[in-house]
Amino acid sequence: MHKDILIKAMDLDNQVRVILARTTDLVNEAARRHKTSATAAAALGRVITAALIMGSDLKGEKDMLTIRIDGKGPGGALIASADAHGTARALISNPQADVPSSQKGKLAVGELVGREGFVEVIKDLGLKQPFVGKVELVSGEIAEDIAHYYLKSEQTPSLAALGVMVAPDLQVISAGGLLVQAMPGASDDLLLRLEENIAKIGKLSIALEKTPVLEDVMARIMEGIDHQIVGQQDLHFKCSCSFARLKNILGSLAETEMDKMWNEDGQIEIVCNFCNEVYHYTREDIRKKAPDIEA
Ligand SMILES: [Zn+2]
Repeated sequence: MHKDILIKAMDLDNQVRVILARTTDLVNEAARRHKTSATAAAALGRVITAALIMGSDLKGEKDMLTIRIDGKGPGGALIASADAHGTARALISNPQADVPSSQKGKLAVGELVGREGFVEVIKDLGLKQPFVGKVELVSGEIAEDIAHYYLKSEQTPSLAALGVMVAPDLQVISAGGLLVQAMPGASDDLLLRLEENIAKIGKLSIALEKTPVLEDVMARIMEGIDHQIVGQQDLHFKCSCSFARLKNILGSLAETEMDKMWNEDGQIEIVCNFCNEVYHYTREDIRKKAPDIEA
């Protein structure tokens, strides 16, 4: 299997920037952890890929970019967070929800996500207040919604494509994404050329599956355009939860609330929403003073 990686390219006149990511392994892990339906796997995969692409500009050790989409569809809310190290995690409220596909070969992600709501992007750059951008959903298909977000919230004309291919046995065969951003003053000819190149490639998930080297897909996107690779990053699924961190959350609960949580084995079980990892705490664990954990 080809490894998960992200590359950035720019034309030599710095008019456009292209970010291309392969995310098959990490989407597979997210889907497996959340036990998603096929359509939910595609939705989850698209949003986690989008978060990694958008988060690839983060610089600070603890910077974090989070996308939150709630379109009032049967899948419920989607949340994905990525950091400056190329790691991301994601959740979908109703992972088992599914919507029958009306088009052969295309999962009904827009219907599962819904379009009666917003896409929110939260950038936590370690400042007092995180930066929050919020725009209405266009289609719930996620790529279109992200492009619309860039245009409305950051005044950057963008083209986004996100693709996740899921096998009947729910294995994610291929996943990835693409973001093209026009710099101010970018020529229409160049943008048209890019659009044509991307249209020629067809389904991104198929192109990624068939092409072992990501630079070769980039070369097709940039066909006829002098360009160079300006960045590269390995990508991984990784959650920031831990035994100590979730214990801190427990510690913030009122005693009466915690009283209701003890199970027959005298333990409290907590499941991390983002990665479905299960943690067990005994009374002894709770009594022990937690070492200070940095948030
Ligand atoms: Zn977790």
